[in-house]
Amino acid sequence: MAFLISKEGIESEYIKKIKELSGEDINACYHCGKCSAGCPSVDSMDRLPNQIIRAIQIGDIETLKTSNTPWICASCNMCFIRCPRGIDLCAIMEGVRQMILRENEDYIDIKKYSDRLADLPPIAVVSAQRKLSS
Ligand code: SF4
Ligand code: SF4
Repeated sequence: MAFLISKEGIESEYIKKIKELSGEDINACYHCGKCSAGCPSVDSMDRLPNQIIRAIQIGDIETLKTSNTPWICASCNMCFIRCPRGIDLCAIMEGVRQMILRENEDYIDIKKYSDRLADLPPIAVVSAQRKLSS
């Protein structure tokens, strides 16, 4: 029988919370890679989408906190459509982002762009505020 043990021995509260927020059965993923192979944003990601799932499975919080993949994810649902296990990777990415934002760790500081806001598409500004900052 195989055991999945996180770096902290027993599954951390952090990982439990991501699972709870996503509502997905993370351990159902067997890493076939179909999600990553079909992801339109993968070229800009530093980790493949299924590597984010793997980081959750093994309790690698450092990777979850530092990877740009959850932030680059466009929530397009292509991975969900392709997954043979029916795993909603969009919801998992959202769970990872939520955990980071709840610690007041914004991915971008919108104030840094204050002198350019008028030139940016309003939908991009609103989207960045809602998705990338707390
Ligand atoms: S397609 Fe599904 S089962 Fe395959 S690696 Fe991605 S999430 Fe895991
Ligand atoms: S939802 Fe995110 S991870 Fe899934 S295919 Fe789209 S961009 Fe890639």
